[in-house]
Amino acid sequence: MIRLVLFDIDGTLIRSGGAGVHAFAEAFAEVFQAPQATSAMKFAGRTDFSLAREGMKALGLDPKEEDFKRFFSSYTFFLGERLKDRPGSVCVGVPEFLLGLAQLRNPPVLGLLTGNIRLGAELKLRHYGLWEHFVFGAYADDHEDRNFIAVKAHERGREHLGPSLAGREILVIGDTPHDITCGRAIGARVLAVATGGHTIEELTACQPDLVVEDLTKISADEACA
Ligand SMILES: [Mg+2]
Repeated sequence: MIRLVLFDIDGTLIRSGGAGVHAFAEAFAEVFQAPQATSAMKFAGRTDFSLAREGMKALGLDPKEEDFKRFFSSYTFFLGERLKDRPGSVCVGVPEFLLGLAQLRNPPVLGLLTGNIRLGAELKLRHYGLWEHFVFGAYADDHEDRNFIAVKAHERGREHLGPSLAGREILVIGDTPHDITCGRAIGARVLAVATGGHTIEELTACQPDLVVEDLTKISADEACA
């Protein structure tokens, strides 16, 4: 039985209409005078820290903690602005699926497992009215590598549900091969959704336990069985 469900954010719960990518570019422009720094970057499934590091290294910098602080302070300002004017949305089926989880006989705890920094995650999910659903999260602030963010999510799950919480009692839901890999890293079940940039075929090739076009195609019951 699934006792903890961990959701990815971008492409899984919401699509920010490019707000995140735009805010990254604007932060590079403001902090490093390098508006083109993000043009060759692949964002999906990546962690914010690894993306910021990649961008700074491409500019010939050897990023220090202070650089990350300045960068993310600028990023979260622009993210708040772009969320207001970019045409994003909650992913198809998400509200119904969350309701279905809450209505299960033994509702699982809901958490976040995301490559967003914590404040970025909160800004995005508050904007779309979803933040209050999640009891805790593991974020890019916890580790630069998504597989270790998953380990942190499992640790926090144990704090909430008890030390016996096993990987197989956790369901990870995400839209990229990175989500599938990090779910595997903690022995979790993985439900892949094709609501981000990846197709059903691409996700199937990474062998998740379940894969669906969107969350209208599976009930909370089936996902947590
Ligand atoms: Mg995603």
